[in-house]
Amino acid sequence: MGKKIIVIGSGFAGLAAATCLADRGYEVTILEKNDMPGGRARQFKTQGFTFDMGPSWYWMPEVFEEYFGLFGKQTSDYYDLKRLDPSYSIYFGKDDIMKVPAKVEDLYALFESYEPGSSKHLKKFLAEAKYKYEVGMNEFVFKPGHSIFEFADLRVLRSLFRLQLFQPMSSHVRKLFKNKKLIQLLEFPVLFLGATPQNTPALYSLMNYADLSLGTWYPMGGMFKIIEGMVALAKEKGVKILTNQEVKQIVAPNGHATSVVTIDNEYEADVVVGAADYHHVDQDLIEQPKRNYTEAYWDKRTMAPSSLLFYLGVDKKVAGLKHHNLFFDEDFEQHANEIYENPQWPSKPLFYVCCPSKTDASVAPEGMENLFLLIPLAPDLKDDEATREKYFQLIMERLERLTGQDIASHIIYKKSYAHTDFKNDYHAYKGNAYGLANTLFQTAFLKPKLKNKKIKNLYYTGQLTTPGPGVPPSLISGQVVATEIDKQHHTQIL
Ligand SMILES: Cc1cc2nc3c(=O)[nH]c(=O)nc-3n(C[C@H](O)[C@H](O)[C@H](O)COP(=O)(O)OP(=O)(O)OC[C@H]3O[C@@H](n4cnc5c(N)ncnc54)[C@H](O)[C@@H]3O)c2cc1C
Repeated sequence: MGKKIIVIGSGFAGLAAATCLADRGYEVTILEKNDMPGGRARQFKTQGFTFDMGPSWYWMPEVFEEYFGLFGKQTSDYYDLKRLDPSYSIYFGKDDIMKVPAKVEDLYALFESYEPGSSKHLKKFLAEAKYKYEVGMNEFVFKPGHSIFEFADLRVLRSLFRLQLFQPMSSHVRKLFKNKKLIQLLEFPVLFLGATPQNTPALYSLMNYADLSLGTWYPMGGMFKIIEGMVALAKEKGVKILTNQEVKQIVAPNGHATSVVTIDNEYEADVVVGAADYHHVDQDLIEQPKRNYTEAYWDKRTMAPSSLLFYLGVDKKVAGLKHHNLFFDEDFEQHANEIYENPQWPSKPLFYVCCPSKTDASVAPEGMENLFLLIPLAPDLKDDEATREKYFQLIMERLERLTGQDIASHIIYKKSYAHTDFKNDYHAYKGNAYGLANTLFQTAFLKPKLKNKKIKNLYYTGQLTTPGPGVPPSLISGQVVATEIDKQHHTQIL
């Protein structure tokens, strides 16, 4: 028996899985359908602008440090990190802007200014969030999620009450805070996890600890610097990365994967790791009787949102914007309802603007600005050029009004991106942007499993399986699957 491992897909999960396995002595090849690695975190350059295509918030810096640390490296070997202060701004209206400070004392003062007496509640809230974060990171996220029994040790059981798994995030926040703006500040991070605060367990206030205590960071040069670092490390460990190699089939006679067929080649494999979207690997690349789940199962999952994105090059400096800007000047609950409860194009969407050129001169020509606009949307909506343009006009009008300046006539580059692109570029189920939502019934061992039940040497990793959506969880998912493979196949293969 050989020791060849094929990894399908080169996002954070695929790169992490491949590198960990190569480090343990396997011969690893990544097959990537696109012309560059990085998946949703790819980058493109045009007219002197450098656009990160997906993630822009660098949270949980220790997850990245620990990843590079596994190989005796540190993030600073690959990129320079800067902590942002303010971490971000929230526009509630014209001249009604909350700047969320990096320093905790300034944060307490901010809370007091919105709701007298609330800083002591914030202390309590963040202490609880810290506890959940630490238990989550130490006891949960590195578990493969094969079964409930992984979580049945006494320490974890004892902590279940304090983890507030069965209490919704919305009531947890509302017990301590009354001010609507503070509530929105504390509830927005769970939207990243793909569900409303009403449907997200209060466990996930751990995201507030990540946000408000651990801080918002930025790798100079852009988020793609993380991918460049991971690719350099993967290659150093001997991983082969082949781009423009879209996988069409996993060949698995007799419950054993033997090769992977791409558009123009066939690659032998002793183990296969599906690091592309789980639904695509499961439903499109293997034959019906060997799939882990049915199409009906997938249809019942709650997907995290999709997004309408605009990448804009602007030929002047845009006053007022910070690096990260959330526009919460319309009704938060109505937009959440139109994403999760009654999926439709939103009537009055909230949106997000990233302006990395405020921190990093390298991402835009001198005197110009690099803007990334994002509207979170329900997955599976019909998406066409006319609808995209309608929403562009709508949010541009608000952006101009709320920041008090003309921006539209200064746009010298514009590209949109939505459901159809997520499907074409990543085979994203229902055009999702962030994978599978972290609802209570899609948490831990209730997520789609890492291992195929009928093909013994086929594994899955990435944002649709454990531990969940987002860059840090995807990075962890790759490490978890590598450990599982090594546990199961080490003696057989090496
Ligand atoms: C717009 C946007 C904004 C986001 N913002 C943030 C943020 O600010 N912070 C954060 O932490 N997270 C953010 N996320 C989420 C984060 O980017 C993802 O959770 C993470 O990148 C997913 O990594 P992955 O490895 O699971 O999947 P992917 O990055 O999708 O990688 C899968 C790879 O598989 C490849 N592939 C698919 N099919 C095949 C095939 N048949 N053959 C070969 N290759 C194939 C794809 O091309 C892709 O490269 C954002 C995501 C999006 C889309």
